[in-house]
Amino acid sequence: MSVKAYGAREGTRPLEPMTIFRRQPGCDDVQIQIAFCGICHSDIHQVRSEWAGTLYPCVPGHEIVGRVIAVGSHVPHFRPGDLVGVGCIVDSCRHCQDCAEGLENYCDQLTMTYNGPSADAPGHTLGGYSQQIVVHQRYVLRIRHPERQLAAVAPLLCAGITTYSPLRHWQTGPGKKVGVVGIGGLGHLGIKLAHAMGAHVVAFTTSDAKRDAAKALGADEVVLSHHAAEMEEHARSFDFILNTVAVAHSLEPFIALLKRDGTMTLVGAPATPHPSPEIFSLIAKRRTLAGSMIGGLPETQEMLDFCAEKGIVADIELIHASQINDAYERMLKGDVHYRFVMDNATLEP
Ligand code: NAP
Ligand code: ZN
Ligand code: ZN
Repeated sequence: MSVKAYGAREGTRPLEPMTIFRRQPGCDDVQIQIAFCGICHSDIHQVRSEWAGTLYPCVPGHEIVGRVIAVGSHVPHFRPGDLVGVGCIVDSCRHCQDCAEGLENYCDQLTMTYNGPSADAPGHTLGGYSQQIVVHQRYVLRIRHPERQLAAVAPLLCAGITTYSPLRHWQTGPGKKVGVVGIGGLGHLGIKLAHAMGAHVVAFTTSDAKRDAAKALGADEVVLSHHAAEMEEHARSFDFILNTVAVAHSLEPFIALLKRDGTMTLVGAPATPHPSPEIFSLIAKRRTLAGSMIGGLPETQEMLDFCAEKGIVADIELIHASQINDAYERMLKGDVHYRFVMDNATLEP
């Protein structure tokens, strides 16, 4: 079937309206009418081929929420009308060690929601800036938030799980001092989640204007990261720092804030590498520099349920599909409070 979408035909061209193909649901598939889709900075990296290897046409979008329209004959747990979500993953091998442990995000044969291999035309997956999507049931999440919050739930499907998973893995919680670097889509949810887990949360920003807002999000303290004296006050004091910044920058000033055995985990995925840090800044205090990629399906459901229970959603700016190119430009300036979400009903001709 044909559905309306927004995407790019080349990395140097703006996104434009297009018509794409979706398969009829197979016996294990869930067909979803997309209500809203969050706009992740990864969408910009990918659609502009900043990570190389982008296939065109490229329809981004992996923070998908909507309602089930139809299900295949072997789908016991979803029914038409259910509120559901789809994140960054639409398939994986389903039998490797990672898949067996529910860590599909680390499967070598992971299929991403867009720009992944696909048997459907045009031969690669197309994402959530579209009216509908058809996904194997294993990769569909249940949404338990009230429907009125649906647009603000969308960013949880990538930004939420990408921050929740490392915060859990590195056991942040009461008694832990946690830094979140960059108050954008990921960072603002990282602040909310770390606060809800009971940690003492310090937000690091380059934007003076976000200082008060960061406190409202749940930060106990806010530090301007280019202000050396403010940074020095926190030297050697952090258990864990989550770095969400989307551009290459010096990691050194943040490593210096870790206490002995502290960890900084990078989730930001800039187009060019960060300068390599001084090895002795790691050696001297047995510090760890780590990475983390989204999260597996069971943990994504756990995160959605945790957020529903705690009343956590993203702070969003809802946009018409035709505003997508302007939204990208504002994101590149760090000017979004704190996640753009597309109203997919505006994709109607
Ligand atoms: P975003 O909304 O654009 O937020 C990034 C934030 O980084 C900005 O709001 C800004 O915060 C800060 N920043 C921007 N330019 C900066 C600069 N020159 N120096 C220092 N800080 C700067 O992006 P996002 O959607 O949260 O995504 C962040 C990154 O994570 C992207 O690279 C994305 O591709 C990546 N990502 C990774 C995963 C994963 O699985 N690992 C998943 C999703 C996204 P302040 O204004 O507060 O400084
Ligand atoms: Zn994302
Ligand atoms: Zn696998």
